[in-house]
Amino acid sequence: MVVAILALQGAFLEHGKMLDKLGVEHFEIRQAKDLKKHFDALILPGGESTVMRKLMKECGLYETIVEKIKAGLPVYGTCAGLILLAKEVEGGEPALGTMNIVAKRNAYGRQLGSFYTESEFKGIGKIPMTFIRAPYIETAGEGTEVLAEVDGKIVAARQGNQLVTAFHPELNEDTSVHEYFLSMIA
Ligand code: GLN
Repeated sequence: MVVAILALQGAFLEHGKMLDKLGVEHFEIRQAKDLKKHFDALILPGGESTVMRKLMKECGLYETIVEKIKAGLPVYGTCAGLILLAKEVEGGEPALGTMNIVAKRNAYGRQLGSFYTESEFKGIGKIPMTFIRAPYIETAGEGTEVLAEVDGKIVAARQGNQLVTAFHPELNEDTSVHEYFLSMIA
């Protein structure tokens, strides 16, 4: 099993470390030719979604990634990655737009933007959740399953082959969300 990590900007190294812990092979995607290599799943890291959207277009990654996701490639978006997958973005523009969710950017305000909590994740149990200028999911539309909520806000969801979390599991020791993602690979 090989996992590709979008590495244009943001917290991509931490996802690699998680996969190392789990003994999973991985490589970074920086340019169009990287998409020609074989991979079974894709991680879109946290960072700045506006910058990633722009760089994905400039580097010619956009269409191929959309096609692959639509064809069933398992994809996991954390934080900015969640925003990239959302069909609609409040306070920003949609990017890949493959997932039937409405994301609200910088949803917790400047002061509350970064916080740590522990909360239930469906099918896993209570896990650590680190939020950094995080979005939340305002609406999880048809075909989606809500996996976690914090203070009444949706912070994790799945739609078939697409998984998103508003928090950063790669910044904690707990590997369970990555394991959950790997279980989505057929
Ligand atoms: N606020 C960032 C954005 O809108 C997301 C923050 C993050 O990924 N930690 O893209």
